Amino acid sequence: MSSSPLVDRFQRAITYLRLSVIDRCDLRCTYCMPERQTFLPKAEVLSLEELHRLSLGFMARGVRKIRLTGGEPLVRRDMVDLVRALGRHIGDGLDELTLTTNATQLALHADAIAAAGVRRVNISLDTLDRARFARIARRDALPAVLEGIAAAREAGLAVKINTVALKGENQDELSELITWAHGHGFEITLIEVMPLGAVDGDRFDHYLPLSRVRKDLERRWTLLPDAHRSGGPARYVRVAETGGRLGFITPLTSNFCDGCNRVRVTATGQLFACLGGREQVDLRAALRSGDPEAALDHALDQAMAIKPEKHHFTIDRPGAAPALARHMSMTGG
Ligand code: SAM
Ligand code: SF4
Repeated sequence: MSSSPLVDRFQRAITYLRLSVIDRCDLRCTYCMPERQTFLPKAEVLSLEELHRLSLGFMARGVRKIRLTGGEPLVRRDMVDLVRALGRHIGDGLDELTLTTNATQLALHADAIAAAGVRRVNISLDTLDRARFARIARRDALPAVLEGIAAAREAGLAVKINTVALKGENQDELSELITWAHGHGFEITLIEVMPLGAVDGDRFDHYLPLSRVRKDLERRWTLLPDAHRSGGPARYVRVAETGGRLGFITPLTSNFCDGCNRVRVTATGQLFACLGGREQVDLRAALRSGDPEAALDHALDQAMAIKPEKHHFTIDRPGAAPALARHMSMTGG
């Protein structure tokens, strides 16, 4: 493979891969997918060996951080094997290997994941109320999630909580979630709901601009500037009263695409150059071609040539169609 770094037309170096290992999930979060979601036939999903080879291809081109995501990554049976295989490259081509999970199965796997070299996990948690959780995720799984979070902590994994802010759903609980997360020593990041894929309700009903949330939080707390950057779109403050860090991901109210350092690959090997765009390159075809290394190199160059400057999605009126047909569970967020 070529060793030339991945740099797009806007001179952004791409050093971060978000790799979805499966589109399936054991939850059905209302803002993410409909109850009757259609999943891909298993045969279309990349094998563990292909996911590994693909990751090596990205690393050869300068990717230093890989986040495994889904769907729910831990629903994939050989997921821990993949974590182990990639974990061997930490310190030797890879700076960091992380995971985004709903934590329903984390209690089973936290020790193995930590032993494989993972240091941090992002865990999605939108409420601490069991009935509300069952309503948002359409599954009564809060006890399993809390067990998973405790197991991660015991295994020595740093935990970051991700919470989608939902009007009329968890809006009144965001302060409590922040207090809870900081009380456990976790960072927490609030996320605006994005118009990706059709869901059963109208996203407009739940869209809550974080600019409004921030104003509400400032009535209760002192939010101090925090220059911390995770290399992603989150912007941070420090909550004086708790001492903890709070992030805001605001794709709708404030666009941070100019610093984008990432691409996303679905479980079938489709590279999406932007979370909010249609620009796409087929890496599975490259991997399965006669000369996979050359084909992958060419495909990655193509991806750099088509990566858009920014996304254009909005949620500005009731009843609008999703900006993209693709659900977040395909690209892994
Ligand atoms: N299942 C795992 C989880 O929930 O953490 C990983 C995949 S999930 C698609 C990744 C993140 O995307 C989660 O934090 C989830 O809350 C978020 N998400 C899903 N759909 C979203 C949407 N339409 N807008 C904003 N965030 C969304
Ligand atoms: Fe599953 Fe994550 Fe989507 Fe919820 S947000 S349905 S846990 S993929």
